[in-house]
Amino acid sequence: MKTKIIRVKDDQIDNSELEVIDEAFKAGKLVVFPTETVYGLGANGLDEEASMNIFRAKGRPADNPLILHIAEVSQIRELVDEIPDIAVNLIDMFWPGPLTLIFKRSKMISDVITGGLDTVAIRMPSHPLARKILQHTRLPIAAPSANLSGKPSPTSLERVVEDLDGKVDIIVDGGRTNYGIESTVVDLTENPPIILRPGGVTTEDLKVIVPDIRTDSTILDASDDRIPKSPGQKYKHYAPIAECYTFAGALDIIVKNINKQIRENADKKIAVLATEETKDSYEGAYMVINLGSRDNLIEVAHNLFEALRQCDDSKVDVIYAEGFEFRGLGVGIMNRLLKASSGRVIFGL
Ligand code: AMP
Ligand code: MG
Repeated sequence: MKTKIIRVKDDQIDNSELEVIDEAFKAGKLVVFPTETVYGLGANGLDEEASMNIFRAKGRPADNPLILHIAEVSQIRELVDEIPDIAVNLIDMFWPGPLTLIFKRSKMISDVITGGLDTVAIRMPSHPLARKILQHTRLPIAAPSANLSGKPSPTSLERVVEDLDGKVDIIVDGGRTNYGIESTVVDLTENPPIILRPGGVTTEDLKVIVPDIRTDSTILDASDDRIPKSPGQKYKHYAPIAECYTFAGALDIIVKNINKQIRENADKKIAVLATEETKDSYEGAYMVINLGSRDNLIEVAHNLFEALRQCDDSKVDVIYAEGFEFRGLGVGIMNRLLKASSGRVIFGL
């Protein structure tokens, strides 16, 4: 298949292009578009065959359900069986934005979307271009991250093309995405609600609306081998090719321990994922990538997946990644790092 690329500057997309995209969705085709988190691989969520094509293009396991993306709150009515009171407050506060909510599904929703679960995940993205596309089509668009399954999610057109050129009908190029990590997923079918995946909206933010919200314990504890409630969390997601280690503890200890590992593995090609504060502290690594300042975790999240892909491009043997505090966006960043490290964490005192 020949993939058509629609280039958009400053989110200014013509009506005729919106029409082309809408027609593609109605014809069951695949369209990649940017959201404020990462690029999404979209198809008409009410078209079972089109949704199946998403799984084929990504090589995604069939039991990993898809998130439906909408433009208006009124669209959820036909998609869900019931709207709990707490949903109204969460929607009011965080939509549009990087928060995915899980509801009991309506009969309209296919098993292909839900991976056979009786629940459905819905989100309203805030990216202006995503909003224009969703407003124009009015269809609920199923859209997982636009990467091959198992690879880090793409935050730029180049990375989408690398993974999906020739496998999708249209790619809408809207420049780099803002958050860099995916949406926070909250299950509203449990009382109190549970955070199934940390992401762009932080636990602290959510507690303002839901003080008793809980976090699925499997998402941050690498040694916990119970099955996560969110099927996607059980896969070796976001994984670079190189062997990755995350270093936890106080920052000076992290720096000391990484330097020790660099010395002991002098025969290996090593990448360090560092920060603005520490980037000049490492000697002997093949490359040191600066993710940004620890005072600006949005920047760190924004750069994380691209950094993992750069490590793959450079064919390094090992990645030593500095850890972050389990606070604010740090929770989502650590969740992605622990997945990239397949649970290999080096603690130090
Ligand atoms: P992606 O869009 O690729 O970032 O992945 C979507 C995430 O949402 C995955 O981790 C899924 O497992 C999760 N998800 C989607 N639908 C549901 C659902 N009904 N219940 C629990 N988790 C879900
Ligand atoms: Mg994904």
